[in-house]
Amino acid sequence: MTETKKTAPAHEPTSQFPLDPATGELTVGGHRLSVLAARVGQTPFYAYDRSLLKARVQQLRAALPAGIELHYAMKANPMPALVQFMAGLVDGIDVASAGELQVALNAGADPHEVSFAGPGKRDIELEQAVAAGVLVNVETARELPVLAAASQRLGLPARVAIRVNPDFELKGSGMRMSGGPKQFGIDAETVPEVLAQFGTLAGQGLQFEGFHLFAGSQNLKPEAICEAQQKSYALALRLAESAPAPVKFLNLGGGFGIPYFPGEARLDLAPIGANLAALQARARTDLPGAKLVIELGRYFVGEAGVYVTRVVDRKVSRGQVFLVCDGGLNHHLSASGNFGQVLRKNYPAVIVPQGRRETAVEAASVVGPLCTPLDLLADRMDMPRGEIGDLAVVFQSGAYGRSASPEGFLGHPACVEVLV
Ligand SMILES: *Cc1c(COP(=O)(O)O)cnc(C)c1O
Repeated sequence: MTETKKTAPAHEPTSQFPLDPATGELTVGGHRLSVLAARVGQTPFYAYDRSLLKARVQQLRAALPAGIELHYAMKANPMPALVQFMAGLVDGIDVASAGELQVALNAGADPHEVSFAGPGKRDIELEQAVAAGVLVNVETARELPVLAAASQRLGLPARVAIRVNPDFELKGSGMRMSGGPKQFGIDAETVPEVLAQFGTLAGQGLQFEGFHLFAGSQNLKPEAICEAQQKSYALALRLAESAPAPVKFLNLGGGFGIPYFPGEARLDLAPIGANLAALQARARTDLPGAKLVIELGRYFVGEAGVYVTRVVDRKVSRGQVFLVCDGGLNHHLSASGNFGQVLRKNYPAVIVPQGRRETAVEAASVVGPLCTPLDLLADRMDMPRGEIGDLAVVFQSGAYGRSASPEGFLGHPACVEVLV
């Protein structure tokens, strides 16, 4: 027997996607979901809403002081059309591979405002970066002579910033990327030694431009973010004393989180804006001419996207309802809880009935077609009663979706991405 209740639960993230006044159907980018699915021509698909992307950048600009540069870290969502759209809204694009670099350049990003971070950069990737004229955030001293050699060969400067592994962490982050031993960046205490190599390699085209500090990700605590920014600033200032040239770019990281789970609220930007204004004022005297950069992935795109899959089967197993869909973990590893989560929790999700009005609500599990119990998009969630042919929608799906998922696993068809 399945439980039937009267009212649908209110998931706050769905408020970004209004219901069609005439039919009551969920809309994405102004399209009724059934019409959008027909336009796409297949399920599963991801849809990203331009107006929400734009609104998010505008909100951020309004909350942060003018002059703070906003960079989009495109690993959160590398869909070329989306990167192109974002390139027109933000000040720069941060890439993590030569593959992403190509997408950013194709999108029309200004190479002067592109930076390239990431461990394990291959020599060929470093040469591509020099040829493109982008800023390389070096993660190890090994990259310096490789960059100098590329610079010599090409007759172009190699623009370099030092990515620092700070001696602190961003408290309460979903993923910590600093403090203690890490494969990212150069340990703060050894940075002066590495900066001294600029002297040895002088005249070989290395151009020092600044520091990059990235302390963590998915953080919803403004006080923790402010503290990390202050510590990052202080550390960069200390390191700048050993720098061979004035700091042009100081990338203070990002880490702004979005709410996924019940009880989580949107990040309060006001204290972060005030904090950055104070740091900016100090930088005017401490580091004249330096641009302060914030780099964000998830915060820009996460809430603007949905993943849509269709119910292929409805099964009741020992009293529990399973809505088996045509896509799952193979396209959306994050929503299945297998991309960095410690305890699995449901992303906000809903069933959108097709061809009927549905008033009944029941607890159902939305699963994908893979032969593993990990393929779970929603675990016993209260949703409108689902039937075969209905659409299942997972919200907060604009970041770390398709490109962060094992699409080839089990050989099901690929999903499609649309920007609407
Ligand atoms: C992953 C990453 C980002 C983006 O993180 P979000 O949590 O998506 O904002 C930014 N910078 C660096 C260096 C990263 O590795």
